[in-house]
Amino acid sequence: MRSKPLIRYALLVVTMLMVTFAQEKPGTWTPDTDWGHWRLGQKADLEFLKTNNMTITFGSGAPSFEDVSREEFNRGMEQAKTNNRALHDKGYIVLRYLTSSIHGRSASNKDEPKKDQIRMLQFWRNGWSDYEDYLGLKPAEDPTTWITVRPDGTFPHYRYAPYGQETTNEFETWGCPNNPYFTRLMEGRIRAQAETGIDGSYIDWTQIAGGTCYCGYCKRNFAAYLKKNLPAKVAQAKYGTDDYDNIALPKKRGEPFWAEWNTFRGYSVAEFHHRMREVARKYNPNFMISGNVFGGFGYGPIGYDAAGNMEMLGRDGYDDFVYSEVQEYLDSAPRKDEQGTKISNSPAFKFLAAATHGKPVIVYATEITPPIFPHPTENCLNAMSQINIAEAVANHAVFREKRLTSAGATQMYRFLAANEESLRNVRLHANVAVVASLRQYLAHELSFAFSASRVLADNGIAHVMLT
Ligand SMILES: [Zn+2]
Repeated sequence: MRSKPLIRYALLVVTMLMVTFAQEKPGTWTPDTDWGHWRLGQKADLEFLKTNNMTITFGSGAPSFEDVSREEFNRGMEQAKTNNRALHDKGYIVLRYLTSSIHGRSASNKDEPKKDQIRMLQFWRNGWSDYEDYLGLKPAEDPTTWITVRPDGTFPHYRYAPYGQETTNEFETWGCPNNPYFTRLMEGRIRAQAETGIDGSYIDWTQIAGGTCYCGYCKRNFAAYLKKNLPAKVAQAKYGTDDYDNIALPKKRGEPFWAEWNTFRGYSVAEFHHRMREVARKYNPNFMISGNVFGGFGYGPIGYDAAGNMEMLGRDGYDDFVYSEVQEYLDSAPRKDEQGTKISNSPAFKFLAAATHGKPVIVYATEITPPIFPHPTENCLNAMSQINIAEAVANHAVFREKRLTSAGATQMYRFLAANEESLRNVRLHANVAVVASLRQYLAHELSFAFSASRVLADNGIAHVMLT
């Protein structure tokens, strides 16, 4: 039926109004993703956020499936949505921690954990069916088979304790990003996070731990990866075989397929991030992903153990920002003095800026609070925080304080807020560049990109890194 022009006009107006209202729904909040806008406050306390001119904070996430009843989960989700909406209404971008580790409890903190001590096992037995809408049907293979394993079938673990405190009988181990059931669990976790309205997650422990993973899924996926990426002729010439389904997985440098194996490990982590992002974006189209990558625990720069392959993660469609635990362990950036004092993180930041092509890089860097830094005076704390923030900003990174925001830091944040328009859309630029090669590192060769960067900096030569 044809309507009269006036009615059609009225309908058009109504439709436009509906579209307008739809855009103002809290679910359609779009975060500002320019690094120059990002000033991260470590607690969602409004007075604190305002005082420090913060634009980003940590919001309320979804409860963990395995820790709560379904009823508690639903209540927690509603509460999280309300909290996050309130922060959005005030203009804050809201991020959230999400772990990819699998927890367990052994008899004491001295025991070697056993697979049947993984807590997820109880959830798989008794709780899974309450969350089938998130997780699908219960898999036949139980969680003891989802974790990354060494060639002999044993698994690595970690026990967390705040600095200066004893570890407990709690342990964490890690799911294999090539295991379809672990991946399904993580898809459920990230979906729940996205549904709470947060703008993004940094996913802790997205890695393939050192000396792993030699599970059946990794073996199968590695063969598929080689078929796609290593021409048979090249494999024949290099290793004398192209029978990818039947090769022995390399365990150390020098063994056939070692270089490809390390690249595959990074590839597995990157594809895992890609999948997490794809799922989250079904529920929140602007959802941002980062792993907790690049740094920490002695593995150093561009390493596959702690970081994955930064160049793979920096591509579009993979990480939207980078959360980097550069911390105090990054010895090679570029050195520590005789007292163990780290001199600078600048080369690492330059590398991250290059690998991510200007996406926001959050650095979780130097602990300036006790007990790592005992008895700091007020003046010292202020100066330290200002140096840290300035070094980060100079390299287009977003500084995250661990727990203490001193008056000196507050002054810096005020300055950055006042000059935000000068920082927006700015990219590092110089006439001198250092090529930072991941390939060298993956082949266990020394790479001098970081040292070269330091020498240039000491001589006052502005430079960038290229990947
Ligand atoms: Zn595996």
